[in-house]
Amino acid sequence: MVSAFLVYALVDALGISVAISAYVAVVFGAGVVTVLEFVIPYDRSWQPDRRDVKNDLIFMVTVQMVLPQILTLLVGIGLIKYLRATEWPIALWPHELPLVGQVALMLLVAELFRYWLHVASHNTNFLWRFHAVHHSPHKLYWLNVGHFHPVEKAVQYMLDMLPFILVGVSETVLALYFVFYAVNGFFQHSNVDARYGVLNYVVSGAELHRWHHSKRIEESNRNYGNNLILWDLIFGSWFLPRDRRVGELGLMNRSYPLDFTSQARRFDMKKLLIVVAAVASVPTVLSAQQRLNPTEPQPSCYMCEGGYVPVAEIEAYTAKAMAEGLTDQQIPAHDIGKGNVGIGVVYRGKLDEPRANSVAEHDLVSEVYHVISGSATIVLGPDIVDRQRRSATMQTVIEFNGPGNGGADIRNGVAYDIKAGDVVIIPAGTGHWFQKIDDHINYLMVRFDPDKVTPLRDEERSREYLSTPPRR
Ligand SMILES: [Zn+2]
Ligand SMILES: [Zn+2]
Repeated sequence: MVSAFLVYALVDALGISVAISAYVAVVFGAGVVTVLEFVIPYDRSWQPDRRDVKNDLIFMVTVQMVLPQILTLLVGIGLIKYLRATEWPIALWPHELPLVGQVALMLLVAELFRYWLHVASHNTNFLWRFHAVHHSPHKLYWLNVGHFHPVEKAVQYMLDMLPFILVGVSETVLALYFVFYAVNGFFQHSNVDARYGVLNYVVSGAELHRWHHSKRIEESNRNYGNNLILWDLIFGSWFLPRDRRVGELGLMNRSYPLDFTSQARRFDMKKLLIVVAAVASVPTVLSAQQRLNPTEPQPSCYMCEGGYVPVAEIEAYTAKAMAEGLTDQQIPAHDIGKGNVGIGVVYRGKLDEPRANSVAEHDLVSEVYHVISGSATIVLGPDIVDRQRRSATMQTVIEFNGPGNGGADIRNGVAYDIKAGDVVIIPAGTGHWFQKIDDHINYLMVRFDPDKVTPLRDEERSREYLSTPPRR
């Protein structure tokens, strides 16, 4: 467990995204458990055969991995967008707590919801039909952790995610919660003969959860905790006999099918599809409500702040360009709702003849130049000779103007002599290149990025950039 978090921290420190760090940590945890199950098994007869592994892998991939991804896409992201648009008070969560504290708080609250869902699943016929799938295996080993009916998994996932998105829990806290959840799940269902000692009063581990999978109802209606065992201690369902080993596992009904397809057949697929469709339509219904007043057009940039760049700042960029030999620099770039707008300042020195292959073309970003000082000849036109794809790692591609091409010449290009005060318009896809620069040319550039391929940058970042010494 601890090592899984260390792996998460390590991968995260390398600058890899939260989701990937979480996955690496979880895979590492699974590896450790697999080894331990072979070295110190609790019960050798629980070691899975080929059929068990195949069956549980299907559950693992469909129910545990694919389903949550779909739900996140359909509901989670839709909900976050909706909340942003409606100014939901998203600051209810104590973000000022240290990260560990936030994860612990989320665990405590999520576990309380899950505790009662689990109790209800064991005590109502309707929910038990779904939950019985999880209790059906006759063996326990780590891959069982994914053995859930998709409907139950969906309800669990909603309980784990929605309340926390609603109060504004950060992505990192959610990811750490899911690492804990996943890795603890492996240990909890593992066939590893490890003694938890005092941890049996903190986490819901294998020693306790085994009894929850017992065939005997008086034993399986205990230890409902998913990650923590706290709520079982408080509500009196904690259970751990020290003088004997757990007996047979699984359901009382020994003819209950064990494989995925026969279990799926037990449930009415039509009903299931209706439930899935209903859940999936939630974000659509929510966003439809935003457009309730049909007579008034809504602004395409909803509740957006304005921006301002003083002339002194533009001059500072020009000075920095001259001092450090820079050409193109991005000043603030804003989200305008249906696109991004970036402001750039460009300074180019004297040029007697065009440099080889210096035609530029941006596929998605359009530009408008406003010449501040100097004069030059620029050629514009869409028919580019000898196009060469710009490398995706170039700074201009990543930060300034997105994917595009270089070229050797512009067929039937139109030349313009430009000077201070002139304006040049370069739609996305149009090639542009300087033929001649008399002494220098300094221009302000407005970049339109309707596909939002370029990063945003606020005024504060811009000032921070200006105050940093040159990198050499
Ligand atoms: Zn259960
Ligand atoms: Zn279980």
